[in-house]
Amino acid sequence: MTDIISPGSTIGVLGSGQLGRMFAIAARRLGYRVHVLSPDQDTPTGQVADLEINADYLDLDAIERLARSVDVVSFEFENVPFETVQVVERFAPVRPSGNVLHITQNRWREKSFLKQAGIPVTPFQHVQSLDELKRAFANQKNRPGVLKTSSWGYDGKGQVPVRGVNDLENAWKSLQTDDAILEEFIDFSCEISVIAARSIKGDVAAYQPFGNTHQNHILDITVSPAQLPASVAAQAEHIAGQVLTQLNVVGVLCVEFFVTYDGQLLVNELAPRPHNSGHLTIDAHVSCQFEQQVRAVCGLPLGSIRQLRPAAMANLLGDLWSDGEPNWDAVCGFPEVKLHLYGKQHPRPGRKMGHLVATADSVEQAQAIVQDARNAFTAKTSA
Ligand code: AMP
Repeated sequence: MTDIISPGSTIGVLGSGQLGRMFAIAARRLGYRVHVLSPDQDTPTGQVADLEINADYLDLDAIERLARSVDVVSFEFENVPFETVQVVERFAPVRPSGNVLHITQNRWREKSFLKQAGIPVTPFQHVQSLDELKRAFANQKNRPGVLKTSSWGYDGKGQVPVRGVNDLENAWKSLQTDDAILEEFIDFSCEISVIAARSIKGDVAAYQPFGNTHQNHILDITVSPAQLPASVAAQAEHIAGQVLTQLNVVGVLCVEFFVTYDGQLLVNELAPRPHNSGHLTIDAHVSCQFEQQVRAVCGLPLGSIRQLRPAAMANLLGDLWSDGEPNWDAVCGFPEVKLHLYGKQHPRPGRKMGHLVATADSVEQAQAIVQDARNAFTAKTSA
């Protein structure tokens, strides 16, 4: 009982993007107040929070002010500096803990943790110089690989393919880092993710796997449920549960997998927070990933992860604004489609501005509808 942070209390959020916005909306629906720390003003999270504290993540006075004004803190973005979280932890519980953040904000630490825990991961080696890269490439028998910076990589940033020995020098120079991993290139049949929540008491609830397709390394379409053999889906949910338990996560975590042609699962990466592939849970499941995060960090029991209807999500990138204002009349003319916008002012190419979700009688139908609705963004107005 004493672990419960009751509705009416205040939750602090580190990070101020769309994940924080949807978290804040879920928190406010449950009667909580939300304070967000953000380096920018008028952010997607700040627009819906009770208080937006504008300060750099390394402004430790502002961090202390935030931490003293709230009952618990969570984060929506794993690149919050570890020192910031350590300061917050002196004044308020941080969930998931700083330790989870510390492991997952560095690919080498994350993959080493998973390997030691006996969880199948893409084969990887730590490389800290060009010489080490050359040795690592030879170790993997000169098979094609992907060189990734250990820190600060997302949506394909901070990674470069290496197809042969002649690529090594340029690949190493282009990353401009002295801390990276070399992974083997996986010829996968599909990419899936499992998002799971874990409560303070250690209960785990994992959504069934979502099927993800990317464009230019950025998530494009998610369908739920993923089209997989039942045994592979069950195994993915089981692995996700193991990861949350072994990392002692209190909150939400996403496990991204490659599925090979022979049905093997390999973990690509973890995100210790709700994930873009879980946005469709807002419209298609009893409890969405953001509500699960609120429940978990506030010490409440988890909600049901039961899916109500097959669903598909399409991301809306800034590119859709390149010819001016989208055709809202056409987009909103799809009554089965839910439009989510993040309140961002500047629609730059590649920037996530919002998403669409369709539910239908089948995943195929939902996907076809959501893609038609997205195509309507750039449809010419009839006038
Ligand atoms: P990441 O930032 O690690 O999630 O990588 C972004 C995307 O690049 C993944 O979703 C994959 O489509 C692709 N990718 C990353 N690592 C590998 C790999 N080892 N083998 C094949 N494709 C990869």
